[in-house]
Amino acid sequence: MGLSAGRRVLLAAADSPRIGRFVRRYGFRLGAARFVAGESLDAAVPVLRGLNDKGLLTNTTLLGEGVTTEAETAAVVAAYRELLDRIAAEGLRTNVALKLTHLGLAFDEELAHRNVAALVEHAAGHGNFVRIDMEESARVEPTLRIYRWLRETGHDNVGAVLQSYLYRSETDLAALAPLAPNLRLVKGAYLEPAEVAYPEKCDVDAAYVRLMETALTGAGFTAIATHDETLIEHAIAFANEHGIPPERFQFQMLYGVRPALQLDLVRRGYAVLVAAPYGPDWYRYLMRRLAERPANVLFLLRNLIRG
Ligand SMILES: Cc1cc2nc3c(=O)[nH]c(=O)nc-3n(C[C@H](O)[C@H](O)[C@H](O)COP(=O)(O)OP(=O)(O)OC[C@H]3O[C@@H](n4cnc5c(N)ncnc54)[C@H](O)[C@@H]3O)c2cc1C
Repeated sequence: MGLSAGRRVLLAAADSPRIGRFVRRYGFRLGAARFVAGESLDAAVPVLRGLNDKGLLTNTTLLGEGVTTEAETAAVVAAYRELLDRIAAEGLRTNVALKLTHLGLAFDEELAHRNVAALVEHAAGHGNFVRIDMEESARVEPTLRIYRWLRETGHDNVGAVLQSYLYRSETDLAALAPLAPNLRLVKGAYLEPAEVAYPEKCDVDAAYVRLMETALTGAGFTAIATHDETLIEHAIAFANEHGIPPERFQFQMLYGVRPALQLDLVRRGYAVLVAAPYGPDWYRYLMRRLAERPANVLFLLRNLIRG
């Protein structure tokens, strides 16, 4: 089956300022709180601690993307420094994931590089780790270039993401292999044309398996970021068969998605990290979560009606 009409509409709505204004007006009441740890860092900290207390690792992100001025990126860098300091002060088992367009990638690659390098260094000072999320296909080349620069200049506490819906990802994985990369594997959350991405879900899933098996048998660390139980069980069986030790991989899921499965994997002895973002700029993130499962729209509408 190809990309559903519902998914297309929701991903298009993610870029619509009019719909964005409407949804934001109804705020957390609409149900964004299911997927977002809080509208502020203060609100997110107890949520992250609660997840840690259940045996889950966490990462967090100050929501936001596509900023357009250097001054804005400076404020984002300051907020991430504050976040890293707070994580350390609170003793949370939380690392940080960020988007390079939040740090200036859309208008100045060199600025984004400087900004992320400063944050990776700051994180290293706390013994912490920074994951660079992957955004739209047009950002893949510069994002991987920056990841490579960071690793080649001695920053090891940083990881990247590959999306199995992109045709190019298997070639990217092979090119990154000599770095023993720390990679999160995802299916991909953006609206992409058939020129660059598999339109059929079965091809995206098959590509995920190929990426996962190659990454797990290579050097480095693999974060298997999916809620797809077939893929998760495949990873477990593959790791057992090939003697891949548990410290070489972990599972990752999103806050608010399949929480029982998260805890079940912890009970079975696997490392599970829950990605729990925060911040007032949650609209686009929420729309991508709805697009992954258009049935979530019903969940939101029910909340709206209950008011
Ligand atoms: C930790 C983490 C980090 C991510 N980082 C990125 C990134 O950097 N770049 C990027 O493009 N994408 C990222 N994604 C999103 C990813 O690309 C997928 O869009 C998302 O994970 C849904 O795909 P799936 O692998 O869970 O499989 P699917 O086949 O979409 O879903 C499998 C099952 O999981 C459940 N499920 C999945 N999504 C939802 C949802 N939103 N609500 C409720 N149930 C759901 C359903 O039961 C579904 O049947 C990330 C995902 C995770 C978990």
